[in-house]
Amino acid sequence: MKLASFEYNGRVHVGIIEDKVHVLDVPDMQALIERGLRDLESMIIKTLELEEIRLLAPIIHPKQDIICLGMNYLDHEKESAAFDGKTFEKKSDNVYFSKRVNRAPGTGETIPSHRDITKALDYEVELALILGEDLYKAKKEECYQAIFGYTILNDITGRDIQRRHLQFYAGKSLEDSCPMGPWIVTADELPGEPDLQVRTFVNGELRQESRTSMLLANVGDILEELSAYMVLKKGTIIATGTPAGVGMGFTPPKYLQPGDEVRCDIEGIGELVTLIGE
Ligand code: MG
Repeated sequence: MKLASFEYNGRVHVGIIEDKVHVLDVPDMQALIERGLRDLESMIIKTLELEEIRLLAPIIHPKQDIICLGMNYLDHEKESAAFDGKTFEKKSDNVYFSKRVNRAPGTGETIPSHRDITKALDYEVELALILGEDLYKAKKEECYQAIFGYTILNDITGRDIQRRHLQFYAGKSLEDSCPMGPWIVTADELPGEPDLQVRTFVNGELRQESRTSMLLANVGDILEELSAYMVLKKGTIIATGTPAGVGMGFTPPKYLQPGDEVRCDIEGIGELVTLIGE
């Protein structure tokens, strides 16, 4: 099932996307996550045509910072080491960082180029999971049933800011720069460990192409490890990392410019289009 947030008649709604849009009687996606998915039919208050709505990010205002994985595909780890002029060494432990998101843009939205603060705006396609249950000290096999669903996240990054500071937080948290969407595909459609093609096109040129089966720490590994340390609350968003082919990985680098169109797609979910403004 596809669950989306969207604008209709000047208001934000949540609904089920099929060949039509079934509007649900909930204020926002977080409220639906809190409620759970049982007996959703009884929550339908109206049915609309697809043309009547404008998709927004499925979770527009994340309750907490988004948890991100760094260096979680081997090929991206190698390109990052090369960019830093370092010899590649296989890391032994997962890299976690977080990303402040006041408002996530949805598909088709224009985000700022931030050229007043960065000369190295970059894209990163990522499979993101959303938790539907609190998790604490969970075994890997128990983690999958706590997943509410999956979406696509573009972990937009100011590379120069990311590297200027000791930690990634600032360079990963540029305002208006965490596109998400186009919707959440519920976990029942992607059971167990997902093996999905992930790609990015910039102005139609294929830049990133991999599969989530290439994740160094997969979904179950991430949830088991993080939940050993802390309670992961329902509604938590975790971005699982990006494969090779980011702008930084090219010589010379291919950073994003005003007017660019970035299209991230993940098999079984859909596509997330982001336009780079002035
Ligand atoms: Mg990333």
